[in-house]
Amino acid sequence: MPKLLLVIILLAPFVAWDAACYVMRERGDTSPARRTEVLRHFSERQIETGRDHVLRHNKLTPFYRAIFYLFYGLLLFAGLAGKLESFLLGLTNGRWWAALPLFVLALLTAQTLLYLPLSAYREFVIERGMGLSTITVGTWAADRLKSLALNWVIVSLVALPVLWLVRSLPGGWPLPAAGVILALSAFGIWISPWVIDPLFNKFTPLDDARLEQDIRALSAGAGLDVERVYVMDASRRALYLNAYFTGLGNSRRVVLYDTLVKECTHDEVISVVAHELGHWKHRHVAKGFLLEALGVTVGLWLLWLLLNSAGIREFFGLSSPGSLALIVLLPFLISLTGTVISPAVSALSRHFERQADTTSLELTNNPEAFISLEKRLVEHARSDLLSSPLLHTFYGSHPLPEQRIARAESWKTSR
Ligand SMILES: [Zn+2]
Repeated sequence: MPKLLLVIILLAPFVAWDAACYVMRERGDTSPARRTEVLRHFSERQIETGRDHVLRHNKLTPFYRAIFYLFYGLLLFAGLAGKLESFLLGLTNGRWWAALPLFVLALLTAQTLLYLPLSAYREFVIERGMGLSTITVGTWAADRLKSLALNWVIVSLVALPVLWLVRSLPGGWPLPAAGVILALSAFGIWISPWVIDPLFNKFTPLDDARLEQDIRALSAGAGLDVERVYVMDASRRALYLNAYFTGLGNSRRVVLYDTLVKECTHDEVISVVAHELGHWKHRHVAKGFLLEALGVTVGLWLLWLLLNSAGIREFFGLSSPGSLALIVLLPFLISLTGTVISPAVSALSRHFERQADTTSLELTNNPEAFISLEKRLVEHARSDLLSSPLLHTFYGSHPLPEQRIARAESWKTSR
């Protein structure tokens, strides 16, 4: 079979799914029952604003997907990755480990430039037009450069030992390679609150004695030691309200956006922190990491099986199993696999979020604050309240706003 036909057979289901997602996002949920349910808590105006927001973003998705297929198609199937590899190997006298960082830099730079117009349009036209983005062109450009440099370092640091293992242990590299990737990943999660996050934002200890005291009391009640609650200067970029839990071991912390601290009432902030403590209590970062470990190990083993076939290597434009083009193939395959496994990943994420919501309600015993917070989050983010049910199953990381509110309401009545 000619190669082009094989490429089309491989990619057609994914392109069809992209098109279906576009249509589903355009349509949203048209069922009257859902609208009635949403209107119990939100207004017609909020529904319209949320729809408008998602539709403006949706206009860009075909361009994002086209760039994705073009980028990987040219590199893998049209042989551009192989050509770049040969060129860089010539430049470095055949030393693959010296060619590797140059290869990574070329790829990441090309990728950044390709997506740059879309990224600028998103930020300065859509998000600014909706009154959500506050970022200056200077900060935005600096972010792009910093991300590029950071990704360059990270990808090179991971790819060097992994490719070395692929080259030196052709019969059994998946397990040690998974070990290296996971060790570096755990190290990254641990060190990121100290080293990576401060590259983009300023973090200051929470400067509100009453709030801090109440957060201490809350965490003590949960049997947790939350010494570290930080406020991040998120308002430099956007007005979204958010909080997150990050870090591993002694770098664990709760981070609140300054927008959240400024906009929300005392009880609402407590409700958010209690939710984040729920993630902490249920060890969601560690559990996510264990699942990642399983995924990486199985994924690398499958990749090893694939790369043992000379025909498959040739199909993807790899001159040998340890070719630098592997650095292109891996994210491409991860992205395609991601689409297939996203319902499972999203279901697990929603399960974690429900657990954290339950902890929040248990710790605060304040469903009213939980509900007013949820409403405020929707209003601030211009969230789409009539998202397509199938898209929610595939990609929804959190339960729907009306579902979260309904849980708080039933908690209230069951007290
Ligand atoms: Zn959460």
